[in-house]
Amino acid sequence: MKVQTLKVLLHEMSWVEAKEYFMRNDIAILPVGSNEQHGPQNPLGTDHLIAKALAEETAKKTGVMCLLVVPFGVSSHHKQFWGTICTSPKTFKGYVKDVCLSLNYYGVRKIVIVNGHGGNLDALAELARELRGTGIFMSVFQWWPAAGKLLPELFTSEERRHAGAEETSMNLALHPQIVNVDEAVDEKPRNHVAQAEGVTLPLDTFDYTSSGVFGKSTTASAEKGKIVLEAVISELVKHVNMLKKAKIEDLMQKPKV
Ligand SMILES: [Zn+2]
Repeated sequence: MKVQTLKVLLHEMSWVEAKEYFMRNDIAILPVGSNEQHGPQNPLGTDHLIAKALAEETAKKTGVMCLLVVPFGVSSHHKQFWGTICTSPKTFKGYVKDVCLSLNYYGVRKIVIVNGHGGNLDALAELARELRGTGIFMSVFQWWPAAGKLLPELFTSEERRHAGAEETSMNLALHPQIVNVDEAVDEKPRNHVAQAEGVTLPLDTFDYTSSGVFGKSTTASAEKGKIVLEAVISELVKHVNMLKKAKIEDLMQKPKV
């Protein structure tokens, strides 16, 4: 007898299998990230590789369909470091919107975005608000604010910044073969001459750091990464299961009575 294993990755399904899923479900997961520098030790794909791993693991645990990760995001502020491939916020928002509308054509009304890169958040938040007005409820999950709340003691604030020990630990737990751990450095971000309280400046990563690391990264370990992975996946699974059960009508805007 042929053993049927439940497929959860859309790109691995046939259209017949996809139809079966869409006929029964109105929810999907879409991971998004970026391709940008993460210090001398981490792969350029850090943000999209982590988002993909979290999303796919959550899909397996919940039975909710997961799409292939969108690898390029809003990260022109890293471009002085070689290999950064980025989009404008407008292109990114438009691309993710088209993916969401494609899902919606097959009846998907609830979309969980697993975002691996903070620079994408403004565009995603804007899109989520816009989609809600058209009957699609999109939520955005980011692992690092979740980890900061769930495991406040595991890393210091210096270790929790871009390409720091926390992010490097996630890479060590997920794909140690592409982390050059001996290259990890600690670098205190420098202040810009125009910096002042209450002022927002159009600065790039290179204005703050020469290595690409903000703060401390040499204290990374696979063990700590595994603790973070477990905690954030369990939070994401809770969220996805909640949305899976929720009625779309209860998630939509209604006129005030
Ligand atoms: Zn990152």
